[in-house]
Amino acid sequence: MRPEVLFPLYAPVTSLKGVGPRVAPLLEKLAGPIVRDVAFLAPHAIVRRTPATAANAIEGEVQTFTVHIDAYQRPRGPSQPWKVRTFDETGFLTLAFFGDVGAGMEKRHPPGSIRVVSGRVDSYGSETQIAHPDYIVTPEQAGDIPEREPIYPATAGLPPRSVRRFVLEALARTPHLPEWQDPAWLKRQNFPDWRAALGRLHAPETDKDLEPQAVHRRRLAYDELLAHQLAMAQRKADRRAEPARAIPASEVGDGVRAALPFAFTGAQARALDDIRRDLGSAERMSRLIQGDVGSGKTVVAMTAIADVAAAGGQTALMAPTEILARQHYETISGPLSDQGVSVLLLTGRDKGAARAEKLAALKSGDVKVAVGTHALFQDDIFFQRLELAVIDEQHRFGVAERQRLQAKGEAVHLLAMSATPIPRTLELTLFGDLDVSRIEEKPPGRTPVATRAVPMSRVAEVEARLRAVAAAGAQAFWICPLVAESELIDLKAAETRARELRERIGPGVGLIHGKLAAAEKDAVMADFAEGRLSVLVATTVVEVGVNVPNATIMVIEQAERFGLAQLHQLRGRVGRGSRESACVLLYDPPLSEIAQKRLDVLRRTDDGFLIAETDLELRGGGDALGLRQSGFPDYVFAEPFAHRDLILAAGDDARLIMARDPLLTSDRGKALRVLQALFDWRPGAKDAG
Ligand code: ADP
Ligand code: MG
Repeated sequence: MRPEVLFPLYAPVTSLKGVGPRVAPLLEKLAGPIVRDVAFLAPHAIVRRTPATAANAIEGEVQTFTVHIDAYQRPRGPSQPWKVRTFDETGFLTLAFFGDVGAGMEKRHPPGSIRVVSGRVDSYGSETQIAHPDYIVTPEQAGDIPEREPIYPATAGLPPRSVRRFVLEALARTPHLPEWQDPAWLKRQNFPDWRAALGRLHAPETDKDLEPQAVHRRRLAYDELLAHQLAMAQRKADRRAEPARAIPASEVGDGVRAALPFAFTGAQARALDDIRRDLGSAERMSRLIQGDVGSGKTVVAMTAIADVAAAGGQTALMAPTEILARQHYETISGPLSDQGVSVLLLTGRDKGAARAEKLAALKSGDVKVAVGTHALFQDDIFFQRLELAVIDEQHRFGVAERQRLQAKGEAVHLLAMSATPIPRTLELTLFGDLDVSRIEEKPPGRTPVATRAVPMSRVAEVEARLRAVAAAGAQAFWICPLVAESELIDLKAAETRARELRERIGPGVGLIHGKLAAAEKDAVMADFAEGRLSVLVATTVVEVGVNVPNATIMVIEQAERFGLAQLHQLRGRVGRGSRESACVLLYDPPLSEIAQKRLDVLRRTDDGFLIAETDLELRGGGDALGLRQSGFPDYVFAEPFAHRDLILAAGDDARLIMARDPLLTSDRGKALRVLQALFDWRPGAKDAG
């Protein structure tokens, strides 16, 4: 239930003066549907107005003039402006107005009157002019023109000054709220109270006030982060509170592990311990295993799956693509069935009687483990006793999809796996409601991939080298970039490259791209995986995690265009066996300093977490789009890089609050409920899952 004190903020934007049916959609697009969203819209610049005369006007500056209105001039053609000729004792100043301004204006500011006008100065031929002045007022009203004015985002049909008017009204309607932050923390951070911080947001005095590190902006960001962290901590607690059957570590699980031709790395052993502790606790597990491609996540999951089967439960292992599902099936079905645990593969390809037979086996409980794609959560699929859902590349599934799978049993334990390395701070904002095990260590015996950056001018050398190694039986990926807006153009580039390589190397060059049907993609992939092709040219569709142990060379064209994490993942497709492998980063010179640094990091390390951390630092959080694509929350005030210290603090704070006052009944707890309602990040809202 929404606290009454917040009602004014939850009113629709149409309740603001001057916001009618025309303006409302524009304001909604800019800020959001309610008054709160308008009050939260931050200015991004400050204009300073300087007094000036016509003779010393400076083009590009925002200036204020006292002028005599001289004459009105109608537009000379359809795309021409109204012009108002004015002058002061030093010269002429033209005011220009596009669109229908006409008669009303002439009545308000008749020829012969004196007016104070203010706006951005430009020139039109030899004329000094201001197009659409911000202010035209009488000398008595000149005091209404602010010397300094924050500038808000605008949109077509809604100029920044109107936005500012709405923002100020929204601010005026914003109530004082009870303090939800810990007093000691407020003092240490020098934070103003919330209402004062919001006021400061809209009354910046210097450019520093606009920066994310300004103390009032930090306060607002912290509030937002705490609201979110708290929501995730509550969700985690709720899920934990749901009783689930305790599943003990089993001999079957130990047997699966012991039969592997290798020993677990320390990190794998720790991850398995984490999972077994969760499964044995009689609380529902929600754990994420984070680790690079090839770090050994799947074999850890396999051991847990064996434990569940030994306790009579079933597991569904879901992967985002058919290729990946099949690979998982091939990895786990042998070791599991050797210990008496039956596994089946279910994908969209299964049809008719074969499919019916598999469904029957799951329903009866004859088969304990189903590996598959989206096919696993279709409506006609029933499990006898689904107790564990393992979701690979979990970010590639929607919340609803994950929930549909988990809904196929009662209190189903969740084990998610992700090979997208992300920095710790972001981990908290993305997965604050999960427990995370990180596998930072690679299995031994892998030779690091020798990584070189090579200018495009030397592509012929790279092709020649490829020809030599292909002749010797090695296999290579050749990745073409996503450059153009249009996939078609990218496809052309990839086709051209494939043709060229075929001329140089011979027929064993395949091409895979996003426009191929799934079955065709699978077929090309299979040709490559089984060695019938020696080079695979691909746009960036090469499925995450695809395992082709014999591939030892990765060439990436226009590497400077890719994100670091993506480059790292692409490189992760080679170097999976014990043979030496190489990654060639082809770039178009000259490289910017940042691009240079990014490629350097890749050459220096193959630690995905370190690479992700560096990536974030180099981007400075500026690449909001990239972050959003990675699932980063759409915060209003908080910025992932500038506020990373606050993210960590909010995570700790939320945990502490949940430990001390889980039901939020103390005074602070009640205030925190207001905070949560303010940001609407209640459990079950926006990003539930
Ligand atoms: P991920 O799921 O993290 O991509 P997998 O579990 O599929 O990794 O393991 C990748 C490959 O490494 C598999 O061939 C697997 O058998 C092998 N592997 C896993 N763990 C180890 C280990 N500790 N030592 C040697 N090889 C391992
Ligand atoms: Mg994997």
